[in-house]
Amino acid sequence: MNKEELEKIKKKALEEHIPIIMDDTLEVIEKELKSNPPKRILEIGTAVGYSAICFSEFLDENGKIDTIERDEERIKEAKINIKNVGVEEKINIYEGDAVEILPTLNEKYDMVFIDAAKGKYPFFLQQALRMINKNGIIFADNILYKGYVMSDYNKHKQRTAVRNLREYIKEVSENPDLETEILEVGDGLAISKIKK
Ligand code: SAH
Ligand code: MG
Repeated sequence: MNKEELEKIKKKALEEHIPIIMDDTLEVIEKELKSNPPKRILEIGTAVGYSAICFSEFLDENGKIDTIERDEERIKEAKINIKNVGVEEKINIYEGDAVEILPTLNEKYDMVFIDAAKGKYPFFLQQALRMINKNGIIFADNILYKGYVMSDYNKHKQRTAVRNLREYIKEVSENPDLETEILEVGDGLAISKIKK
């Protein structure tokens, strides 16, 4: 992998206010991947490919990532970035709305990374649970959403997102098949390990 190219991608994304994964969040995920290299990863929310490129380094031999993005400009840029870093063999982009694409997928994944429309997190979870392998792991980024999720203030305009993020936390916490931790890294990260 071309690390110099990766740094350029990161810098440009930050300059353009594209919400790429934060360093401390990435660190936590990479630690998990290192100790348990996945063969198949599903990512919901590619943006310009930054997180997928980072994860691709930790794939098991012949492993692959499927990632979903609906924004045409970002898809274009992601394709260029993935090629420039030299990981195009490892990353497949599904182009379109994850709400429509997810129900058509019938694969099994060792890791799912949820990082797209916050109002859809409960739906993304339902789909992730359908496709996750035993001993798999589901991460949800931005789960604390600038602190809104854990505060009682809910009169701002993001209240649908906040309601759905709270619903996500409730579901992963109450699901007996999952062991869940909520970390205050970055914008909040939910980690759910599949027990059975
Ligand atoms: N994972 C990326 C950042 C993703 S930002 C990284 O860390 O590098 C969130 C992305 O999700 C945005 O690019 C947005 O266009 C996309 N998105 C949001 N809702 C979506 C949906 N329903 N289907 C597909 N993509 C979606
Ligand atoms: Mg994010």
